[in-house]
Amino acid sequence: MKLPENFGENVFNDSVQKDALPSEVYKALRATIEAGKQLDTSIAGAVASAMKKWAISKGATHYTHWFQPLTGLTAEKHDSFIEPEGDRVIMRLTGKSLIVGEPDASSFPSGGSRATYMARGYTAWDPTSPAFIKEGTLYIPSIFVSYTGETLDKKAPLLKSMAALDKQAKRILKLFGIECKKVATTVGPEQEYFLISEEDYKKRKDIRLTGRTLFGAPASRGQELEDHYFGVLKPAISEYMRDLDNELWSYGILSKTKHNEVAPAQHEMAPVFTTSNISVDANMLTMEIMKKVAQKHGLVCLLHEKPFEGINGSGKHNNWSMSTDTGLNLLNPGKTPESNTLFKLVLAAVIKSVDDYQGLLRASVASAGNDHRLGANEAPPAIISVYLGDQLGALVDSIVKGENYKPVKAEKGSIGVAESPIFPKDATDRNRTSPFAFTGNKFEFRMLGSQANVSDPNIVLNTIVADAFAEFADELEKAGNIETAATEITARELKNHYRIIFNLDGYGPEWEPEAKRRGLLNNKNTADAVPVCFEKKNIDVFVRNGVYTKQEAVARGEIALENYIKTINIEALTMLDMAKQEIIPAVSDYAAALSLNLSAKKAACGGVSANAETTLISELATLNDELFAAANKLEDDLSAIDKDDVKPASQAMAHKIVPDMEALRKAADAAEKLTASAKWPYPSYSDMLYRVK
Ligand code: ADP
Ligand code: MG
Repeated sequence: MKLPENFGENVFNDSVQKDALPSEVYKALRATIEAGKQLDTSIAGAVASAMKKWAISKGATHYTHWFQPLTGLTAEKHDSFIEPEGDRVIMRLTGKSLIVGEPDASSFPSGGSRATYMARGYTAWDPTSPAFIKEGTLYIPSIFVSYTGETLDKKAPLLKSMAALDKQAKRILKLFGIECKKVATTVGPEQEYFLISEEDYKKRKDIRLTGRTLFGAPASRGQELEDHYFGVLKPAISEYMRDLDNELWSYGILSKTKHNEVAPAQHEMAPVFTTSNISVDANMLTMEIMKKVAQKHGLVCLLHEKPFEGINGSGKHNNWSMSTDTGLNLLNPGKTPESNTLFKLVLAAVIKSVDDYQGLLRASVASAGNDHRLGANEAPPAIISVYLGDQLGALVDSIVKGENYKPVKAEKGSIGVAESPIFPKDATDRNRTSPFAFTGNKFEFRMLGSQANVSDPNIVLNTIVADAFAEFADELEKAGNIETAATEITARELKNHYRIIFNLDGYGPEWEPEAKRRGLLNNKNTADAVPVCFEKKNIDVFVRNGVYTKQEAVARGEIALENYIKTINIEALTMLDMAKQEIIPAVSDYAAALSLNLSAKKAACGGVSANAETTLISELATLNDELFAAANKLEDDLSAIDKDDVKPASQAMAHKIVPDMEALRKAADAAEKLTASAKWPYPSYSDMLYRVK
């Protein structure tokens, strides 16, 4: 690919729109995209026709409304442009087909909020995210709603949450004398992933069916040497990344940074941030492209949160901020944050909302896969807290304690060698252990799982901050002097929510008991984290801000629990298959082969030493019995669960089935260590983690 010329060549982006559309139509469309003005449907015909013409010139034959149902994945149904005319066809895309599609909604999850006979669902064009062409089809980013207008997807509520924040932020800005057309939230999601060889992937039933290894003894070499992080890229990986970048760039995705991550075979791609809605779409497309490009290279890209036990899993850092169309970043502290009343108020709003709705934020990143990371010593803990760094931490401390603030100025850095340049040092150091960290001019929410749709946490984040803004604006609009009133609100709220601020090591053993003393939530798994979604306060905040109806909010919680139950169920069944059909027989065969050798040795020259065989046979026999018993226990416990009753079923999955699975795995992994590798039915951890050259 040639840069910059071919960047975004597959996208119906601003410059293509400008060339392809009549100027009035272009202006109307931009007004919707940039200032959030209601779309003038009379322009749809002209846009559709221009889009189709452009798509056909690029070889497209089909179009699809591309949407994000509650499965967490993307969905598409392709229609061709053809329309019969006599005995020929013409290529057509009408304004109506651009604006609305009608897939059958009955097979998508709706959290029990909609009867199957009411199957009508509509997809509707989201003009704020550009259409693109992929493999001969024009993709039209769309929302997905039911006949009764209920949202059935993740994009519609994201857009609503952005609109809520826009509305409330503008109220605050207006009071400070700042006029703007729009306040948009921005997101830069850093995406972690693993690459393994296709050859190994094919031989691992667990990875094929569940995305992760359910068995596997640790490799003798894990990540302890810390040599993989930022390490030199292996040629196969480097080629993959080059291809990946080219693909991403062709779709206008701002892929910026690539590097090896902490665990062997683990890597990361970080894009430049953009408007949340576009960033979410880009991330969904990125995950798909990562997998496709891997296939071309004989590799498999694993996006699961925990493909391998014992080494780091994968997450997604959600860098988040809010900016006006005039370029003001509301989280930019400026040179003198101490005298920046607006910034301090915005900071107080974020801190307050994160504290008030910590349960919702935690729930928004809960999934069976992510349970393996949060709370373990690699990702941030399951406890939500806010890290501010030295500079802001000291500022907030001084406000809360009513003391004078002594500015912590960013120093100039030098390594003490005359030839080396002086570099400006950041005022905040990095704290890798905080789940919600201020990093210069944005917050970084680090609890997301790598395969998550980033809409979920952003819907929560935008909504709760909008809610805090609304509360502040209500108060400020009645106040005489804005500066004084804002300063008072800031001090009051920072005092009220001081408990959520934690500037020390989140992995340390002191934090859990300390967080408990502070009354912070610590929900370690999905079954325990999600039920907060059903609490009145947590439903009301969505309803109040027009993001979800009560029914929609409850449905989201139910679907999260359903997904959790289904995922654990599939994992447990896969483990049972592997244990009973492959592992137990393999261990038994190996023990039998050893027994033959033992007999031969005994017969030879009146008997030779056979300590190794004798001990191994006995140990393997014991382990195989344990394996068999553990598998039976898992099977019995699993069949005793009524999977349709989501609350008790999710509890049983978390507190019975997951421990059963761990016990089964433990016995199998111990057996793997004692079994000849040629006899083991699966590639080992060392094979998978170190095969790619
Ligand atoms: P890290 O050190 O965690 O890898 P960087 O500082 O390089 O992080 O930035 C990480 C991400 O934050 C990038 O995707 C970047 O585009 C994004 N980012 C920077 N500014 C903003 C902002 N105002 N809003 C949202 N994301 C941002
Ligand atoms: Mg980061």
